[in-house]
Amino acid sequence: MRNAASSAPPAPSRATASERPSGGEKEPGGEGRGGGGKGRLQRLIGWQGFTVDVPEDWDLTGFSGTDESGYLRIDDGAEQGLEVKWATAPKKMKTPPDVTVRRESYFRALRQTARKKRIDLETKEVDAPRPVLRPDRAAAGFTWTGDRKAIGAVWYCQTCRRTVIAQVLGARSGKGGLSGIAAEVLGTLRCHNDDAEWRTWALYDLVTEVPAEYKLVSQQLMNVYLRLQFAKGTARLTVEQWSLASMARRDSYLDVWLQANSRGDVREARFMTDEGETHGHPALKLVGGPALGRPMVTVAREALSLRRPATRFGAVAWECEPGNKIYALQLMRPARVRDVVSEVAERTRCHTPDEAGKKKTT
Ligand SMILES: [Zn+2]
Ligand SMILES: [Zn+2]
Repeated sequence: MRNAASSAPPAPSRATASERPSGGEKEPGGEGRGGGGKGRLQRLIGWQGFTVDVPEDWDLTGFSGTDESGYLRIDDGAEQGLEVKWATAPKKMKTPPDVTVRRESYFRALRQTARKKRIDLETKEVDAPRPVLRPDRAAAGFTWTGDRKAIGAVWYCQTCRRTVIAQVLGARSGKGGLSGIAAEVLGTLRCHNDDAEWRTWALYDLVTEVPAEYKLVSQQLMNVYLRLQFAKGTARLTVEQWSLASMARRDSYLDVWLQANSRGDVREARFMTDEGETHGHPALKLVGGPALGRPMVTVAREALSLRRPATRFGAVAWECEPGNKIYALQLMRPARVRDVVSEVAERTRCHTPDEAGKKKTT
């Protein structure tokens, strides 16, 4: 990923923790099995085609790479967490990767690191945890104990052609119900979406879906502001979420506020505004194109490079009072590219029923 802040995101935002439903307090011990598993996994994380349900106090804390190959870390900021590494097999590859060979090379890399750090390491080949097994996956399991304990699996998925190494980490002693959590979390880890056309992106308190053909090109992950920017050819799609919206916006009009605060294409667009509704909130709809001046230079450059220039601008923005957030979705696209702004808006999760209820009683 290109932008400087990308592979080392700031410590995950806890600023909005008070807005989260309070039912998901961390449970002591390893109980809770047999309850279907969903009970304590209340947070959805979605990144580069992966989705996983994790405990409420876990969140995205590290990532690198692309949808082709990359790394993802989700943890509680202390002891327990999930790590995922993936690589995509080329389409023309005839024989699928051997997961036991992958497991062995992973063990080798672990041993090397352990030697350097002078840590005693014990690796063990085991059957893949049952919840990981799927008809389209070849899977092998492992555990290792070093400075921490890990329970994981290596699998190859025929559907998305990803080889995945996924492990849940915890205390060396395995306390904190590590094996139970590991089975539950690994069991919900999906390496591709059932609907191949859309991808879920979920982190901190943002949950949205974006057409799969749009690739993440940059992001900004801050306490009160999240931005994911995607591209497909010359089309640029920006998803933004501001928390503490009422403080941020005060009395200014949403379109004026957006032009001042957004990092999307709205700053360099000319547009007409219209009113609509999204998730029951009054919404601002913008339709237009690049503004005259500098953006036209971009258009001209794109045209000269024989790529279809992005000449259509569209956006939807709304303030969610119960969730105290502002959402903005923007798309600058060539005329031939489908306008997906309102679809993405519909697929962006707004307030929870909890928040709506709170609002009514106060
Ligand atoms: Zn898959
Ligand atoms: Zn809302």
